[in-house]
Amino acid sequence: MDTGLILEHWGEEYERYYNAIVPPVFMNSLHVFDTIDDYYDSDKTDKHTYCYGRVQNPTVRILEEKIAALEEGCVSYVFSSGMSAAAAAVLASCKVGGHVICIRNAYGPLKNFLLGYLREHMNIETTFVDGDTVEEFREAFRDDTQLVVLESPSSVVFSVQDIRGVSELAKSRGARVYIDNTFCTPIYQKPLALGADYVMHTTSKYMGGHSDLIGGVLTVKEPALGEEIRILREQLGSIIGPMEGWLILRGLRTLEVRVKEHERVAGKAAAYLENHPKVKKVYYTGLKSHPQRELIERQQSGSTGLLSFEIDGSLEDAKRFCQELRIFKIGVSWGGFESLVMMPYARQSEEVSRTMRGSSGIIRIHCGLEGAGLLIRDLEQGLEKI
Ligand SMILES: *Cc1c(COP(=O)(O)O)cnc(C)c1O
Repeated sequence: MDTGLILEHWGEEYERYYNAIVPPVFMNSLHVFDTIDDYYDSDKTDKHTYCYGRVQNPTVRILEEKIAALEEGCVSYVFSSGMSAAAAAVLASCKVGGHVICIRNAYGPLKNFLLGYLREHMNIETTFVDGDTVEEFREAFRDDTQLVVLESPSSVVFSVQDIRGVSELAKSRGARVYIDNTFCTPIYQKPLALGADYVMHTTSKYMGGHSDLIGGVLTVKEPALGEEIRILREQLGSIIGPMEGWLILRGLRTLEVRVKEHERVAGKAAAYLENHPKVKKVYYTGLKSHPQRELIERQQSGSTGLLSFEIDGSLEDAKRFCQELRIFKIGVSWGGFESLVMMPYARQSEEVSRTMRGSSGIIRIHCGLEGAGLLIRDLEQGLEKI
């Protein structure tokens, strides 16, 4: 199905809301029934029956129809944050005493969940791998491995994993594959088609796209996995609120045009930085020089607005550079309209940063929508100051 058709019209049922072109925010916690039996017979998986707001909401349902179609999955569930979506996938897949394989550069709070709660309360062990080759995963596999956690590309050093290769391996060993697809968005990568079981996006980034909400979504291609997730979300009470759901729907309208512009600007910024004498190294999947170029071209059809680099200088020089920037604001997160800069490893030891495959001086920028010329001039004046 055409992406534009999904983003603008899929899942909408205009006749159910007075032919309004934009669906309302169903700002309600419950729905009423004619009879007691109707209430008990209402089917939670029927897209036209709603019962209680912790279970499902009509605005949220439209959003889920769109994301499932974008990811070529069978069903999506939208959560109150990316982390609540990620935690639901882990809890659905792991049993007491099990084993997880996770890439070392996965999102920090998810690693903390694996190493903290999962280990302490469920006796689940996690093995970390760089994840550049399928062989590394094969070596890390155990008979009790239940889940493989991928993030391709990872969001600081932009290393990629072979989604198809790892998924085939996991399938042959009876484990599930989870992947964080936030960087690529479904516009540029469709992991379910490559064999992954769960695709996660934090909608706080590109899907929302306007830095005005927190949310997350899980999409699966197997109905049985979807049922587990539906039940977990209901029991954990972690559905997105209707207003945030509506804002994500609004963000999705322009997802494709936005990510293309983020990519265009980031491509120019990456090329500029790569040729700058004060820059030692640039990390971006859009660069021809990326060491995993061939794999990137096999599974990603593009890159978005986030990239990292290292300058030829001290940690203090890197901090000064960030603080000299005028358009790029210092701030965590990314995926919104605004340009941001962060030093994700600035408080890590050089040793820890190295195992995370960067240095403590690594600088990450998100290229927003202010325009390539303005942003490159900002980088230029910042680099002149060091
Ligand atoms: C921000 C982020 C998350 C977490 O999303 P929240 O909505 O903040 O919970 C997960 N993965 C990646 C790659 C992120 O950047």
